[in-house]
Amino acid sequence: MSNLRFSELGLSEEILKAVDKMGFEEASPIQTVAIPPILAGDDIVGLSSTGSGKTAAFAIPAVEKVDPKLRAVQVLVLCPTRELAVQVSEEMAKISSFKKGVHAFPIFGGQSYGRQFSALESGVQIIIGTPGRVLDHLERGSLRLDSLKMLVLDEADRMLDMGFREDIEQVLSQTAGEHQTLFFSATMPRQIEDLIRRFAKNPKRIKIEATAQNVPQVDQVFYEVDRRSKVEILTRVIDMNDFRYGIVFCSTKIMVDELEEHMTARGYLVERLHGDISQVQRTRVMEKFRRRGFEFLIATDVAARGLDVDDLEVVFNYDLPNDAEDYTHRIGRTGRAGRSGKAFTFVSGRELYKLQAMIRYGKINIRREKVPSLDLVEEARENQFFEKLRQTLDAGKFAKNERIIERLLEQGYESTDIIAALIHIIGGSSDAGPEDAKSAALAPEIDSENNFSKKQKLSKKSLPGKTDSGIAGNKKSSSEKNFDEKKSRHLKEKFDRPGRTGLEPGFATLYFNIGRKSLVTPADIVGKISGLAKVPASSVGAIDIHQRHSLVDVRDEVFAKVMSKLTGIRMKGEVLTVKIAEPE
Ligand code: ADP
Ligand code: MG
Repeated sequence: MSNLRFSELGLSEEILKAVDKMGFEEASPIQTVAIPPILAGDDIVGLSSTGSGKTAAFAIPAVEKVDPKLRAVQVLVLCPTRELAVQVSEEMAKISSFKKGVHAFPIFGGQSYGRQFSALESGVQIIIGTPGRVLDHLERGSLRLDSLKMLVLDEADRMLDMGFREDIEQVLSQTAGEHQTLFFSATMPRQIEDLIRRFAKNPKRIKIEATAQNVPQVDQVFYEVDRRSKVEILTRVIDMNDFRYGIVFCSTKIMVDELEEHMTARGYLVERLHGDISQVQRTRVMEKFRRRGFEFLIATDVAARGLDVDDLEVVFNYDLPNDAEDYTHRIGRTGRAGRSGKAFTFVSGRELYKLQAMIRYGKINIRREKVPSLDLVEEARENQFFEKLRQTLDAGKFAKNERIIERLLEQGYESTDIIAALIHIIGGSSDAGPEDAKSAALAPEIDSENNFSKKQKLSKKSLPGKTDSGIAGNKKSSSEKNFDEKKSRHLKEKFDRPGRTGLEPGFATLYFNIGRKSLVTPADIVGKISGLAKVPASSVGAIDIHQRHSLVDVRDEVFAKVMSKLTGIRMKGEVLTVKIAEPE
């Protein structure tokens, strides 16, 4: 069925004007199919993917049905989070902007009761709320539903995932009477069926299959990978594209935990979400993610459902989702609002058949690509660094540092050599390890925008040479800056020591069977040690990277632990051996 124009849906002039003003040209598939029966008074169950326009599918007929002269609640929308309540309320307001006397108001936990009481008393006709707070007002008697015409459950699947089942049931049983009930959801777990059976009358079922057209604009790629190299490939793809904000989906809690350790050890700013994490902690992680307090969220499907973000740069299916529906749900979190998002899916072994089935039945528009090689990654990093440098030069936003420059020139150094040396120090050159290049190129923005935990500072922010490099404006507080500078000096001394000048007391030297040839950097090694052996970075002393091995000084107390925790893990594609170094 092709999409209809809004003017073909039997809507009033006021609504058509509003929709036009909102810039909607034609109704989306779910809107085309759902609006007429809702206007006709049917109960419906509407199933379509995230981003397909479900809000307007119920908001348009809702506003249409409100009687502006009646100052009582006529439409009640339940939705999972306060952000969504606000969003839906705003959409209702836009749709009713030409229909005088119609008012919508969001109510949710955390907002003052005072404002909610007065809004309810003033006679708003459309209430959008989270289940708990709605129930609360019903029980207090401040929300009365005698004039209710329409009850909507928006994102029903997410509300159930978030544990609102009982609240929803209570609200539904208190609204029994003459009104329509509409269920909207991206997926249809069994629990919803149960609610529908009990609370909807002869519902019309509307299901819009996810097709290439109504999935938001997401560039979808899959890689066939060896299970053991997934972490490596994940980080390569992140580095190559310079991604800073995304979700990595795993199939199990254990996978989430493992990947979180690996990514942290590699210096990425990550947090995890899964069913075993306490509600308090989950809420904290979600809030932090929403305000971009870290880069990548590693999560299981269920844990990520309650999360309200749709402006991700990228979604990784580190493990294949169960079915096409979950796949669509996952990738729907990127590529919203007209921007194109990216989704990468890893398949290993027999998973390929499962993906092929999903592609066939779910009409998924995904293409296969070859895993990016290390060379490609390096080239991309170099380009990023180059761009950043060029932008800084063009913008002219840097201190001139004339004294240092003059002194160097006076002593007879060539300006090109000075620049080359600087690039070497900050690690932006193609000869330097890729991690260094990455950190140099990424440092300034990360630093100025966010407020990371100390653990993360150690793993990524304080890599050598990146903190005080001043490639771009750095708006940190002075104490933070001090911390970084101290840290950076400390690490710098540690890393830049030209030869081994003898062991510090209290330290012992370990041999790692991995070196420059595998593109390992001191930061990688410190990251791995602090991440996996769970010892502070200060327990690591001097590090010498040789062609095929590295010598790493660690404090006596952690010596054995580092050996046992790191032996056998994979690092840069090698299986690591860590042993006591022979005297040179
Ligand atoms: P869903 O609830 O299905 O996840 P939304 O209702 O949040 O999707 O809509 C996703 C985006 O699409 C919003 O930015 C919305 O403004 C936009 N949108 C909805 N309907 C249309 C339409 N008919 N034409 C253009 N954009 C639309
Ligand atoms: Mg929605």
